[in-house]
Amino acid sequence: MKIISDELCTGYSRPGHPERPARISLTQQRLRTQTELPITWAEPGPVEEATLLHAHAPEHLARLNVPEDFDSDTPFHAGIADYARTSVGAALEALRSAREGELVFSLMRPPGHHATRRTAMGFCYLNNIAIAALEALATGVKRVAVYDFDVHHGNGTEDILLNRAGAAFFSVHQSPCYPGTGLGNVGNNCFNFPTRPNTPREEHRAVLTRALDQLKKFKPELLAVSAGFDAYAHDPLAQGTLEVEDFYWLGKSIRALSLPVFSLLEGGYSRDLPELILAYLKGLDGK
Ligand SMILES: [Zn+2]
Repeated sequence: MKIISDELCTGYSRPGHPERPARISLTQQRLRTQTELPITWAEPGPVEEATLLHAHAPEHLARLNVPEDFDSDTPFHAGIADYARTSVGAALEALRSAREGELVFSLMRPPGHHATRRTAMGFCYLNNIAIAALEALATGVKRVAVYDFDVHHGNGTEDILLNRAGAAFFSVHQSPCYPGTGLGNVGNNCFNFPTRPNTPREEHRAVLTRALDQLKKFKPELLAVSAGFDAYAHDPLAQGTLEVEDFYWLGKSIRALSLPVFSLLEGGYSRDLPELILAYLKGLDGK
């Protein structure tokens, strides 16, 4: 299992904000000290401006340098444009690795799935997964699917991939919940699977399976996963019910598709995040 991460992505924070550096540093520590899963570490790759512009408006890229908060969830931080770009660089490196047949996970912040073509929101500044999916399409992949199991709807990914030929988006998320979108399917390629707060975990798993079954029908060559761990029963931000073994099951279910796949960290705010990620990686690895 290849983990793409760096030491610098913990360099920004706002006191009391749930999207905090310890999410990454504690997971790095956990993965380094465990012995069950063989891991290799890699650094984020370079990012071309043109690659970002496949997904984002030029005005949005310029706005990331303006020192004003985007909204109350999404503060401006000194250097946030560079942090966000590095997180994109990790997604692109994950894409490359997946295309070479490697198992790979990007352990970075900021996350990306709420960032729309024109707006930073929901702790997200640039949409890592949409940028990587569009880069795949621009470089020879014919059909790419994005599977998003974060408890929040990936509204930004939907906004960017909507009706894009060759791309399809499948999101399982709580509703009602932030950001309030994803109540039904949109366009010809965005498939939403809302679940009620406190949906029993067996039922939630059945919905996750239904979304994967629909994804299979799209017959993707490549799968990109927005891996959010906030549908966990003890996550402070939503009312999910999944347990650690459900994230292992998710990894195994994704492995069973036998597709080149890369996963990017989205949400997950409980102190058990390192265990949840490790369980998912073990499932992906077929342990
Ligand atoms: Zn989330």
